[in-house]
Amino acid sequence: MKSHLKNEKEAIDDHGGRRDFLKKASIGGLGIGMLGVNNSSEIIIGEGNVQSKPAASAKIKITDIRCAIIANSAVVRITTDQGITGYAQGETSKPYLKPFVLFYKDYLIGEDPTNVERVMMKIRRLGSFKPWGSAVSAIEIALWDIAGKAAGLPVYKLLGGKIRDKVRCYNTNYSSRKADTVPKDYIEFGVNLKASKYGFTIFKVAVGFHGGMSRTVPNFTYGNTDSRFRGPLTEYGLKYMVDCVAAMKEGLGDSIGLALDMGPGFMLSDAIRVANALEPFNLMWLEDMLTGDYTPYVMADDYCELTRSTTTPTHTGEQIYLRQNFRELIDRHAVRILGPDPEDVGGIAELKWIGEYADIHGLQIAPHGIFSGVIGNAAQAQVGATMPENYIAFECSSIEQGIARIEMHTNNCNI
Ligand SMILES: [Mg+2]
Repeated sequence: MKSHLKNEKEAIDDHGGRRDFLKKASIGGLGIGMLGVNNSSEIIIGEGNVQSKPAASAKIKITDIRCAIIANSAVVRITTDQGITGYAQGETSKPYLKPFVLFYKDYLIGEDPTNVERVMMKIRRLGSFKPWGSAVSAIEIALWDIAGKAAGLPVYKLLGGKIRDKVRCYNTNYSSRKADTVPKDYIEFGVNLKASKYGFTIFKVAVGFHGGMSRTVPNFTYGNTDSRFRGPLTEYGLKYMVDCVAAMKEGLGDSIGLALDMGPGFMLSDAIRVANALEPFNLMWLEDMLTGDYTPYVMADDYCELTRSTTTPTHTGEQIYLRQNFRELIDRHAVRILGPDPEDVGGIAELKWIGEYADIHGLQIAPHGIFSGVIGNAAQAQVGATMPENYIAFECSSIEQGIARIEMHTNNCNI
């Protein structure tokens, strides 16, 4: 909390003055102010009332790009010579992105921001896998925000129009696992998830390497490295995970979907054993068992073998940059569900393209999400409204914390 307040102060000091940021951002093409949450954890997409300056006949030009660290995430603002500004946001806990955002300034000044693709062709080649695609992705989203405002339309209209009025999101619970947790404790954990007042219909829980079990559960792996982020699984480790999932399902019931964020870290043979052992629980998906979070490679061959070996749906993709790097996964049906993050993959149009390509290959899509940022969630809702019918839900890690933090940190920020 302290560090967030410090960041807010830094953001204000950096640029001077105090303005009501949220009020300004809420009238944008991303429709931040148009968002509502119903009791089924769906983001409601309004029809518009987008207030914008009418597009002038003269070509609109980018005049500056700014970045402030608000609530520990990089918030991007692109300004133009016609007074229209665009906002976007990098994932929480990546304050180090600021200089990377500003790096692209010289490529953007003087460009017409409403020609989104033309601008992106200048900078897209200068990004990479997570987290080095984040700055490019945030700029893409801010460009769409400007394009929407200039046209007087919500961004979903520019992406092809909405096919749904409500966009489902799922909740990820990243509660730290205590060292003395035993599998039966997960019954109460599941009960508490189910009792969430937001009425989520899908939860994702970190289990395995992603849940820190390799570091907190004795004899979980045969690994003997200090980090224990990867290693061969013991029989005890396998049974421990299965028992935890069984307990969670007992508490959660079968009317709510459960997905597991599991890796990366499993050996291929262990991943196959785990996926098979978890088949009785009808899980939504197993995420990133082999590669994923912060691994700058894909390993489609291994995912093909894993996916063919089990009826439990497999999922990956949050670290992958650009549509081209999803091609092999999709062409070869290497996983059942893709999980690109619009804040890492290159933006919302990039996500839309991957969703469409996955759909014509019989695969589903459940995008990875920003931790708690209202601007990032607004962008997810805009593109989510336009995604094809293979769309499951986007990740919304913490509505409650997110709203509280945004209210706390945006009232007096100027970027
Ligand atoms: Mg993940």
